[in-house]
Amino acid sequence: ALKDTGAPTIFDKIVKKEIPCTSVYEDDKCLAFKDISPQAPVHIVLIPKERDGLTQLSKAEERHKDILGHLLYVAQLVAKQQGLDEGFRIVINDGAQGCQSVYHLHIHIIGGRMMKWPPG
Ligand code: 5GP
Repeated sequence: ALKDTGAPTIFDKIVKKEIPCTSVYEDDKCLAFKDISPQAPVHIVLIPKERDGLTQLSKAEERHKDILGHLLYVAQLVAKQQGLDEGFRIVINDGAQGCQSVYHLHIHIIGGRMMKWPPG
């Protein structure tokens, strides 16, 4: 739960291929890759390639509506591609109390085991 400084994040380096990732989906607008610290058998991080000020969901502006819709659509494509036919969870952590650690908006796609509700 770090603070947003507006500085480039590790995800920019992943997009630029300056650091490696295990990519599972890519199109012109977004990239999905395996989380380095998986919390379930399937744990994918889906990001917009261009952050465009979208450090976190609560910074969303009118211009972000298309990419936000696209990301949500792609999230379920990725879930299907990952074989999560019995269900899955998507999570967007926002800010300090949301336990956000990377300030480049991202959707977690988590599955392959029974989830708990409510989350901790
Ligand atoms: P947040 O805590 O901000 O919602 O999620 C950030 C996620 O990115 C964490 O689950 C963390 O494990 C993952 N992550 C952080 N750095 C890297 C990295 O360099 N590579 C990959 N694949 N995942 C990362």
